[in-house]
Amino acid sequence: MEQSKWVFVTGGARGIGAGLVRMLVKEGYSVAFTYLSSAITAEALAAECHTADTWCRGFQCDMTDHAAVNALAASLCSEYGSPYALINNAGITRDASLFVMDATRWHEVIRNNLDSVYHTSHALLPHLAENGDACIINISSVTGIKGNPGQSNYAATKAAMIGMTKSMAEELGRFNVRVNVIAPGIIETEMTAGLNDQQLKKLRDLVPLKKLGSTEDIARMAVFLLGQGGRYITGQTFVIDGGMTA
Ligand code: NDP
Repeated sequence: MEQSKWVFVTGGARGIGAGLVRMLVKEGYSVAFTYLSSAITAEALAAECHTADTWCRGFQCDMTDHAAVNALAASLCSEYGSPYALINNAGITRDASLFVMDATRWHEVIRNNLDSVYHTSHALLPHLAENGDACIINISSVTGIKGNPGQSNYAATKAAMIGMTKSMAEELGRFNVRVNVIAPGIIETEMTAGLNDQQLKKLRDLVPLKKLGSTEDIARMAVFLLGQGGRYITGQTFVIDGGMTA
């Protein structure tokens, strides 16, 4: 049987990343995903997603550690061959008004949200280019488009991902590597599960569709971009926000 195409997903143990992993496997892709500290959750997800025709494996790997990312990428490519796609999803927030944002918060977010994208892209590019048909998806945020008070560090990284994506799309088009951004709005994850009804209503009121997005909403767009529908799309940003930025 032909080996399934495999996808590298960063930060796949929880939230949007876990939604991506589940949908990719459902669509017939094999998946290698990373996490930082959610070992038990990662193990359960990998076990849940293993099928007869595909594999799904979670790896503890800090995306801010360039050498560790290089080592994992090399080991996976040697075991499974070149990946079909890279999805840069891992990201963190360390919110504070810029008045009181110390350098630790600033650099932590830059390292986790932006340096990480350089690390994975640089490590996997030769392999993706070698395929002659490959994709990169960078998970940004509406905050990278319209900003958000208290999130200047986060917004800077998410806007930078959009610029980086456009440059990469222009560089990599000749290898038929398509590079796009998905910019989610407010998505229901563990974070929103902790909010009370009043807080949830406040969030919903910000959205023209009057509901929060789901991890599946993001994963569906990713699967579209990876599939036939995405064959002539590169350098673009797809906003999935229920109309927040309309
Ligand atoms: P979560 O915090 O739920 O999950 C983030 C995942 O990334 C976790 O699995 C975490 O690992 C992993 N991770 C974080 N840093 C690293 C690192 N240095 N190395 C390896 N893994 C790491 O995030 P969300 O699902 O909410 O968000 C996913 C992406 O979507 C982020 O880039 C975020 O900015 C973006 N986004 C999210 C929105 C939302 O409403 N949720 C809205 C817009 C954008 P571990 O589990 O071990 O901690």
